[in-house]
Amino acid sequence: MKLTVVGNWHAYPEQGGATSGYLIEEENVKVLLDCGSGVLSSLQAFCSVTELDAIVLSHYHHDHKADIGAYQYAQIVHNGLGTKMKQPKIYGHKDDEQAFSELAYKDLIKAVAYDNQQALQIGPFTFSFLKTEHPVPCYAMKIESKGKKYVYTADSSYFLELAEFAAEVDVLIAECSGYKGDQIAQYGHMTSEDVGKLASIAKPKALILSHLPHVGNHQQLVEEVSLQFAGDIELAYTGLIKE
Ligand SMILES: [Zn+2]
Ligand SMILES: [Zn+2]
Repeated sequence: MKLTVVGNWHAYPEQGGATSGYLIEEENVKVLLDCGSGVLSSLQAFCSVTELDAIVLSHYHHDHKADIGAYQYAQIVHNGLGTKMKQPKIYGHKDDEQAFSELAYKDLIKAVAYDNQQALQIGPFTFSFLKTEHPVPCYAMKIESKGKKYVYTADSSYFLELAEFAAEVDVLIAECSGYKGDQIAQYGHMTSEDVGKLASIAKPKALILSHLPHVGNHQQLVEEVSLQFAGDIELAYTGLIKE
């Protein structure tokens, strides 16, 4: 299972960058996890806008779904051009019916609801979901394929069940929106100290810090996480690949 980080920023993309977006690939099936601002542009370094089989959205904050509108228009453009295209699906939760209703587009994109009670199969990938602690309904995802397990926390403050959900995975993509001491749990986000605690319990084989803050030196995040977690820690950047 190949993972490519498409975007790594919290809230808004810095110049030339993107907010949340992660491409996973296996057996020529391509699935994008979240589609924040700048993601559609950055994605094209790795695959065309017509090659995605599916997009799975964790929640409907702009930094996770802003480029869905751009993606819909891309399908219209390529349909008009007669480009050979897949029939993409966008998966989202239905806790917010209005937001879910905006995902499907003409007869080009189907919207499918997932729920956290049931595994979801997309090609070779088996998805399971855990509701996180965030101001709006949001779901962390576990993706399993060919004996490998990856977890993406999406947006959340720290809670024990999230660590248990991510136990001993091959790759854990953890949101790390602030530095040790930042008061961001109230906004449903994790600091480096929270991620250190999460990783110390989950013990992933590899840890990627993403959803990064717009201040400070990100290397400090790695140092603060490493106070509690001795394993492999990397900062997410567009183009980081794990397989
Ligand atoms: Zn959010
Ligand atoms: Zn976010």
